[in-house]
Amino acid sequence: MTQTTEPLVDLHTHSHFSDGVLSPAELVQRAHARNVGTLALTDHDTTDGLAEARAACVTAGIRFVPGVELSATWRGQTIHVVGLEVDDSVPGFRAHCDSVLARRRARLAEIGARLEKRGRLPGRELAAAAARGSAPTRLHLARVLVERGHAKDTQDAFDRWLGRDCAGHVPAEWPELDVVMAALREAHALPVLAHPHRYKLSSGALRMLVTDFIARGGVALEASMAGMSPNDADRIASLCRRFDIHASLGSDFHDPAVPWNPLGRWLKLAAGLEPVTHRLQGTAASR
Ligand code: AMP
Ligand code: MN
Ligand code: MN
Ligand code: MN
Repeated sequence: MTQTTEPLVDLHTHSHFSDGVLSPAELVQRAHARNVGTLALTDHDTTDGLAEARAACVTAGIRFVPGVELSATWRGQTIHVVGLEVDDSVPGFRAHCDSVLARRRARLAEIGARLEKRGRLPGRELAAAAARGSAPTRLHLARVLVERGHAKDTQDAFDRWLGRDCAGHVPAEWPELDVVMAALREAHALPVLAHPHRYKLSSGALRMLVTDFIARGGVALEASMAGMSPNDADRIASLCRRFDIHASLGSDFHDPAVPWNPLGRWLKLAAGLEPVTHRLQGTAASR
């Protein structure tokens, strides 16, 4: 396969400040090696990794986009909104993240207690071992369950212990979409609807979600994700055209050991879609 020389764009990645496994500096080094020229770090509900990533991008000559991925509730469902060019010095935005991170820690502890009571596992100890980084997620706990031999891989950990109807299932209580969008607007971020193809929504419900998202200031849909099927890519591209909204692209990279979403790879927008990069103001270093 010939490698393209045009620098790649990756606007959705995670570091070990949330559920990624690399430090921001390691992530940037990897992005550089893979010919990524524009990179956003978008950890779940925290911006604690941005300073390290920004410094590493300056060294590597990569255009850095400070980002975040916020969890939200829309009509009872969990959805994710990526905020690009987020100004995390805004107090209202920081307060939003702090309150969600406190909820995350409480949820993990509650999952631990349930695993102990209903699953007969040393749940509290497992939850304590999983409470790493700024934003502890269920994926951290899934990895600990694998490490301690309670599951064969993280998918199995979700299927056996953490998913719906499992001993350790604790429903998430994320802020409503309205609240999340207000926090992003306050931080002057460009809101991007994350992985719209992954929600279990009918076409009609997805159109309602996109309508609500745009009404609250949403500017783009993630239309090219690593591992997206051609059918899903067509569906989301059609939505972008129908709503005349920009398209974003990202790998949702978490872990070098997971081969199907390497940084930057497979990412290309369908013809006729307007990339959200056109809305970016410039490199963070110039701000
Ligand atoms: P949380 O935000 O704490 O509910 O954790 C959700 C994170 O766990 C997601 O961002 C995914 O990285 C991961 N995740 C959720 N569901 C699954 C699943 N069924 N299999 C593997 N990873 C999952
Ligand atoms: Mn994640
Ligand atoms: Mn997500
Ligand atoms: Mn993500």
